[in-house]
Amino acid sequence: MRRRADALRVTGDRIAVVPTMGALHAGHLSLIRIAAEQADHIVATIFVNPTQFGPAEDLDTYPRRNKEDVAAAEAAGATIAFCPSSDEMYSDSYQTYVEVRELTRPLCGATRAGHFAGVTTVVAKLFGCTKPHVAIFGEKDYQQLVVIRQMVHDLDFGIEIIGAPIVREEDGLALSSRNTHLSAKERNSALGLSRALEAGGQLFAAGERRVQTLLDAARTELAKYERVRPDYVELLDAVTLKSVETVEDPAVLAIAAFVGETRLIDNCVLGR
Ligand code: AMP
Repeated sequence: MRRRADALRVTGDRIAVVPTMGALHAGHLSLIRIAAEQADHIVATIFVNPTQFGPAEDLDTYPRRNKEDVAAAEAAGATIAFCPSSDEMYSDSYQTYVEVRELTRPLCGATRAGHFAGVTTVVAKLFGCTKPHVAIFGEKDYQQLVVIRQMVHDLDFGIEIIGAPIVREEDGLALSSRNTHLSAKERNSALGLSRALEAGGQLFAAGERRVQTLLDAARTELAKYERVRPDYVELLDAVTLKSVETVEDPAVLAIAAFVGETRLIDNCVLGR
């Protein structure tokens, strides 16, 4: 991959990378399409990264279907599919981790110890392999996007990071590879996340700026759905991910919740 990237770069062509864990859906494919507008060569990486899963998490059951994924990525405009194995990425002697500090403390960082160190480490490695000029990440994983922007800035990677809008089902459910785990009843309950975001968003649109009131609206809506166990419902400054009491600058309303055994996340940015 590095040799190929070097050969492309010397011609002056631009490389875009779209990192994914596979089980590609329309959300991933929208990222590839955005990448295709940005560069001459589009690398889709498909790698279920073990270092970003906790010991009690779903690494073993995470959906894997490489063959279909490569075909779907190419149909959406990817020119290279990079699908390394775990052994290639992490040798027995592996010992280097990249850690972003403040931004990884709230939200998913609070309950998924080590998750973001795994993410930043693998993304740094994927950047090292694919040598992109630009990389596309979805706002679906909002905290991941701001953490990666910070890493790229702090470590002088010189790679442009583009955030892409969340792709949703018609009824509002954010597309996720993990949605395939949901039973029919759970699929219905999963709607609670986007509905709770809408409840907060509507109140904000009506002029409400008090964070507590906006959170109450979102939490009350989420509580209406059976089989949903919230991990967090938070409203934080969209840039710093720090707590605020009133929304004066753009703020991210973010939810993580278990629907049955499946942990889902969703968010919307208020005031931008
Ligand atoms: P994943 O395979 O879940 O690690 O996701 C790979 C990339 O696709 C990440 O940048 C995600 O934020 C992005 N992504 C996942 N779901 C969606 C979605 N519904 N809409 C837009 N981007 C998404």
